[in-house]
Amino acid sequence: MNQARKLSVIIPIKEEQDNLRPLHERLTAALEPLTKPGASPSLGDYEIVLVDDGSRDQSMNVLREIAAADRRVKVVRLRRNYGQTPALKAGIDHASGEVIVSLDADLQNDPEDIPMLLAKLDEGYDVVSGWRKDRKDAAIRRNLVSRIANNMISKISGVHLNDYGCTLKAYRREVLEGFRLYGEMHRFVPIYAKWQGARIAELPVTHHARKAGKSKYGLSRIFKVLLDLLVVK
Ligand code: UDP
Ligand code: MG
Repeated sequence: MNQARKLSVIIPIKEEQDNLRPLHERLTAALEPLTKPGASPSLGDYEIVLVDDGSRDQSMNVLREIAAADRRVKVVRLRRNYGQTPALKAGIDHASGEVIVSLDADLQNDPEDIPMLLAKLDEGYDVVSGWRKDRKDAAIRRNLVSRIANNMISKISGVHLNDYGCTLKAYRREVLEGFRLYGEMHRFVPIYAKWQGARIAELPVTHHARKAGKSKYGLSRIFKVLLDLLVVK
C-alpha cells in the first residue's frame, strides 16, 4: 500500500459551534499517530477540511480559531446554506488527499473509528461505508423509516448495504470523480461506485445520540432521498 498517501477528512457544518473543538481534538488524537513511522494503517499526511454551510451561530468564529492553530485544518465557507451534500462536495473539491473520509461534525460518529476504515481500504476496497448497527436516533421517526428506506435503496440499486445514510465513509479519491454530487446524493456514492466496478465494504461503527446542537433534518428528508433514488435509477 501507498505509505505516503494523504488523507482528507471532509466535515459539513451547520450550526455546530459547541461540537467543533472536541471534534478537532479527537480527530487530531486519532490521526496524528498514523503519520508516525511504523504506524498501521499509515498516512503520509492528513488534512481536515471543515466546510461551513452557512451557519448562523458562532461556528465560523470557532473554525477560524481552530484553523489559525493547526496547519492541517482548511476552512471552506459557503455563502449561504446549501445542504449537507453540496457542503461535502465543496469540501471534496478543496481536498488534496488520495483518500477521502466524510464525517459529520456532531460527534454522533467516533473520529476514533477512522483508522479502522482506513485499514479496511488497505485490504483492497475502494469504498468503506460505516454502518450504524446500534443506531442512537429516534426509534420510529428515524430508525424504522431509515430501515425501510435502506431496503428500498438496496432493492432498486442492486447494491446491498444496511445503512446508506451514515456519513462516516472512506473512499479512494478516484471513485468520486465519475459523477456529480447533488440533492441528498452523498448517501448514494457507494451505488455509483459499485456500478463503475469499485469494491465496496460496510463496517459497523459506533453511534451516539447527539449531545450538543440540534439535528437539521426531519421527516421531509425521506421524500428528497426517495426522489433522488429515482434519479439514480
Ligand atoms: N449539515 C450541513 N448542512 C445542512 C444540514 C446539516 O452541513 O444543511 C451538517 C450538520 O452540521 C452535520 C451533518 O451535516 O455535521 C449531519 O446533519 P445532522 O446531524 O443534523 O443530521 P442527522 O444526524 O440528524 O441525520
Ligand atoms: Mg447527526
